[in-house]
Amino acid sequence: MSESHGTEYCHQAEIQRLQGCIEELEKPDVNHQQQKESLGESESLFQYLFEQTHDAVFILDLAGRHIISNQRAATMLGYTKEEMASLSVNETSAEREKSKSVLERLLAGEHIPLYERLFRKKDGQIIPVEINAELIRGKNNEPIYIQSVVRDISERKRVEQQLRESEFKYRIVADNTHDWEFWLSPSGKFIYTSPSCKDITGYEADEFKRTPHILIKIIHPEDLAGFLAHQKDVAKKREKGEVEFRIQKPDGNIIWIDHVCQPIFDDNGAYLGARGSNRDITRRKIMEAELKEANEKLNAHICEIEQLQSELREQALHDPLTGLYNRRYLNEALEREITRAKREDHCLSVIISDIDHFKKINDTYGHQVGDKFLTEIAAIMKNYARSSDIICRYGGEEFLLILPGATKAAAMKRARELKRSCAGIRILQEGKRPKVTLSFGVATFPIHGQEAGELIIKADKAMYRSKDLGRNRVTAWDEKGALS
Ligand code: GH3
Ligand code: MG
Ligand code: MG
Repeated sequence: MSESHGTEYCHQAEIQRLQGCIEELEKPDVNHQQQKESLGESESLFQYLFEQTHDAVFILDLAGRHIISNQRAATMLGYTKEEMASLSVNETSAEREKSKSVLERLLAGEHIPLYERLFRKKDGQIIPVEINAELIRGKNNEPIYIQSVVRDISERKRVEQQLRESEFKYRIVADNTHDWEFWLSPSGKFIYTSPSCKDITGYEADEFKRTPHILIKIIHPEDLAGFLAHQKDVAKKREKGEVEFRIQKPDGNIIWIDHVCQPIFDDNGAYLGARGSNRDITRRKIMEAELKEANEKLNAHICEIEQLQSELREQALHDPLTGLYNRRYLNEALEREITRAKREDHCLSVIISDIDHFKKINDTYGHQVGDKFLTEIAAIMKNYARSSDIICRYGGEEFLLILPGATKAAAMKRARELKRSCAGIRILQEGKRPKVTLSFGVATFPIHGQEAGELIIKADKAMYRSKDLGRNRVTAWDEKGALS
């Protein structure tokens, strides 16, 4: 019963109390005038409460005829108050027999708790009502009349019916879905679980209803923290949440569940429990794991391929014997460096070097010794190089160096240092220590040329001038002749 309903039934108690007062006032030893005044006051108070109560109040005689009704009672049944006075429960009740029986029981002194009944309105419409009926007795405890406080519960019945219908529809869906639908009480107990619960979990739906927190007991330990965090989150945010976890079936098998939970609140925000569904997503999880594994393998293959491609790219630009850049890389690099030198307005030098009489080394000591000289010379060139220098093996026993920012003089100095260092290389072979010398040619941007090809040709010509002049020397390009 709601609070306001309770208050209304208090009015009923007050009405009785006032009637008691009226009887008291009728006693002969009280001053007559005073009696009359008090009676008048009490009657008007009685009338006031009688009309003010939010419920319909009917006063019936012991035969079930209406004596007095308040305005609400008359309005509820569609009569005027005067019309009401000529009616009996036979006209106002749509369940005559039941009403007759209530009258008999009341007259027999039985207390009848709040009950529901159908009333018939003047226009024939039937309405459901809730009744609190009592037998009122006189001063000698003799039954005087019956007081009936009545409330129209049409609206409540309509809402209840709607709820029943919606729950019925939900259950039809829930009972037939492959998902495991559930309702939880505010304390988290399973009130309803759909039959597919058994197919999914291996546990009977009833076991979930009987065993509190059964879900927590069967959730995989690794997923429990996630599930508890989800529950906390749903309660805190007061909105629908979703979580995936594994559960262990009675046969020991592990399955994956997708759990969706929607908390339900009443109009005042009080938590009424939750409604949700659990779906078996094991197949999806297996497929996801397989896909992940396949992707990982694919990614590993892609990495391997990329690694091989990058190695191939490196190989394509490098000389395998010395590890220096090859001619292909050089052509591209020199173009790029000249463009940069032009843009930044600085000079750049090219050095070409060629081993002197190298054929003789091969012929005398073998090709392997020749190779060792090539690798040793490459190592010295790398050691002497600055980070911006580009060194490449230009031909069989020819090397080319690009020195960005180097003037002709600086390049000649570098070439001479290299000449000296390379001359110091000794390869021990059959007790002998052969050595080599190199001839160098230098050309500088922008004084000797503006383009890559032109600079290479001029450095090469300068190198051949070194050869002509007796080898083991450094010569820079000069239109007029050689300078060493
Ligand atoms: P010059 O002073 O005029 O340059 O005489 P040279 O003998 O160095 O010149 P030539 O062009 O006649 O011979 C170059 C030799 O370099 C021929 C070849 O056997 C050798 N050579 C070229 N590439 C390699 C290589 O990768 N390894 C070895 N060991 N020798 C090589
Ligand atoms: Mg050569
Ligand atoms: Mg040579």
